[in-house]
Amino acid sequence: MEFSSKLLENAVYEMSQLPGIGKRTALRLVLHLLKQPEERTNLLSNALVKLKSEVNFCECCNNISDTKLCEICANPKRDETLVCVVEDIRDVMAIENTSQYNGLYHVLGGKISPMEGVGPQDLNINALLKRVQKGTISELIFALSSTMEGDTTNFYIYRQLEGMEVVTSTIARGISVGDELEYADEVTLGRSILNRVPFENSIKAG
Ligand SMILES: [Zn+2]
Repeated sequence: MEFSSKLLENAVYEMSQLPGIGKRTALRLVLHLLKQPEERTNLLSNALVKLKSEVNFCECCNNISDTKLCEICANPKRDETLVCVVEDIRDVMAIENTSQYNGLYHVLGGKISPMEGVGPQDLNINALLKRVQKGTISELIFALSSTMEGDTTNFYIYRQLEGMEVVTSTIARGISVGDELEYADEVTLGRSILNRVPFENSIKAG
């Protein structure tokens, strides 16, 4: 792509670094921004700068939050004996949308994936084990997507929990294999949380 301006080229390049944005889409977005009043573009760029510099992760569950403890962890009405283990905050949002779950979460920040060079140490697993060791959690619900990476991650955590007094369960697989939690409809997802099964059963089935 030949550009008539270095400024334009830079903006298109940076935009095209986003996932799912090719060079042509990047050019279209940049030209769109160029047509907007300067104020609009400033609002967008300020929101992004502020997001990156001021964003905070809940010190308990690693959910994105504006406060030290996220609203879910800070809510005394939530059941603190129940913790749902998820990959990222999109899963928290999906499960919250079902209104079927009143426990807390633990956001791992990804899945174990040797192919992508993601090991257990890159995820928020140690903090989870520490939470369990405190003894207030009676059940951990694994709600990672049922891909090979999701299963590997569940099993890794399950092994690490050996000897700790906690029940492990997994969300019922009404969600078909390989489906991302994010895309499951609310009714199905809500039902699968209510109908969760002991994790041991899911290993035998696999
Ligand atoms: Zn939290």
